[in-house]
Amino acid sequence: MPNAERELRAAQNQLMFRSVNERIKELGEKVLNAVSELDFACECDNPECHSPITMTIEQFDAIDRMDNRFMVLRGHEDLDVEDVVAEDDGYLIVAKRGAGAELVKELS
Ligand SMILES: [Zn+2]
Repeated sequence: MPNAERELRAAQNQLMFRSVNERIKELGEKVLNAVSELDFACECDNPECHSPITMTIEQFDAIDRMDNRFMVLRGHEDLDVEDVVAEDDGYLIVAKRGAGAELVKELS
């Protein structure tokens, strides 16, 4: 698969997980406070991955506010299409590259 196509496919999948997570957050906010922990979906580019990332609503917000940032479990990063920009307990923050980054920018 050409690189640009891979980058696009990965970004599309990750944007899907991100909208799932935004939904989880909305529901959580209604019944919990910002320091409560929720199970968010790993935003890696593997469509088969259903692993949870546990973090507080506050932590999630801090990541979600930034463009082109996705949270993935350690080991789920795909260095062919993204760069690791930060790490926390058990998860990494990645930024898409190339065509993937452009797609994210368009759709955000
Ligand atoms: Zn994953």
